[in-house]
Amino acid sequence: MNIHEYQAKALLRQYGAPVSDGRVVLRAEEAKTAAGELDGPLWVVKAQIHAGGRGKGHFKEADAGDKGGVRLAKSVEEAEAETKKMLGRTLVTHQTGPAGKQVNRVYIEDGSGISRELYLALLVDRGTSRISFVCSTEGGMDIEEVAARSPEKILSFAVDPATGYQAFHGRRIAFALGLEGKQVKECVNLMGILYKAFVEKDMEMLEINPLIVTDEGSLKVLDAKLGFDGNAIYRNPDIAALRDETEEDPKELAASKHDLNYIALDGEIGCMVNGAGLAMATMDIIKLYGAEPANFLDVGGGATKEKVTEAFKIITSDPNVKGILVNIFGGIMRCDIIAEGVIAAVKEVGLKVPLVVRLEGTNVEKGKEIINSSGLAVIAADDLKDGAQKIVAAVRG
Ligand code: GDP
Ligand code: MN
Repeated sequence: MNIHEYQAKALLRQYGAPVSDGRVVLRAEEAKTAAGELDGPLWVVKAQIHAGGRGKGHFKEADAGDKGGVRLAKSVEEAEAETKKMLGRTLVTHQTGPAGKQVNRVYIEDGSGISRELYLALLVDRGTSRISFVCSTEGGMDIEEVAARSPEKILSFAVDPATGYQAFHGRRIAFALGLEGKQVKECVNLMGILYKAFVEKDMEMLEINPLIVTDEGSLKVLDAKLGFDGNAIYRNPDIAALRDETEEDPKELAASKHDLNYIALDGEIGCMVNGAGLAMATMDIIKLYGAEPANFLDVGGGATKEKVTEAFKIITSDPNVKGILVNIFGGIMRCDIIAEGVIAAVKEVGLKVPLVVRLEGTNVEKGKEIINSSGLAVIAADDLKDGAQKIVAAVRG
């Protein structure tokens, strides 16, 4: 689960990290008062969406002006004007995709004078099963770009969970970033704060890009992107409360409400599968035969007819879906339940694209019978290969 920059900064402030003062604004009328509460003489107006690259982004609407989603203002009035241009408009960045994201919240922050822009991240490294620090002197740029062009400018190392964070970790980062004097101490302190917050709040990712050295020579968190482990959210009700459902894919949101493991993808073949392993294999075989999956969907082992119906509705609500492959191995899940769910869903939402069904396992004969006697134009498949070939052929026409 992701949260907005202003929420991330409020959380890090609680832990003692240096961040600027700021106000979140939901309606343009609030902008002037909000900006007036900050010191100036520089204000930063920042679009709050769950995507990075805002500064280099652009708005779809012409009346938003030709600047990106991070704008500097030299007066309260200018801050108000920039807020008005952004609220309700659609910001497109390299992370939002071409559709962009609507800006429903704007953060007005006390502007900082920047002397250096640095990069700092914490993440769970699956390779070492440890929390890793990543830092670079090349702040304010995409770290992927830095990694591709000048990997020697990135330092990354894991923290041993037995010792946890130690001052030497912080010093290692400080020296890699070329910090001097009191900045070294500030860095050691800040890294400890970030590590503590990361562990206590079950984060998956923490990215400060940029971490800056201000004109006064102090470290400051200028941007903050936090991601939390969805499976641990129940332990952190304060984090759960920060969820902004308008930022989530509506199909993924519907799926999470029905306890379905669903991830939207860009392809054209909708998949309904039971078991994560079989779902992965199904996606692979679709690719093998030259098409792309539109989603990952695991309906789970003990799915009910209602759950299957919901899953089917979510798949068909995706306009990119040009065909559907149902691939079920009935172990705990019974094939007749799947068949009933598919029929119920088709009756409710209709079937406008080819549907290939491959059933195997418990009650397979009963399941096939339900489908065959339904009068629906369903293409039956015998095995995984057959199913994939048939759906790809049907979609390709
Ligand atoms: P992002 O584009 O979504 O990553 O948004 P950031 O918060 O990282 O802002 C993008 C860039 O705007 C930063 O790299 C800075 O160069 C600039 N910026 C952001 N806040 C300030 C500020 O307080 N003062 C100044 N001078 N520049 C800022
Ligand atoms: Mn940034």
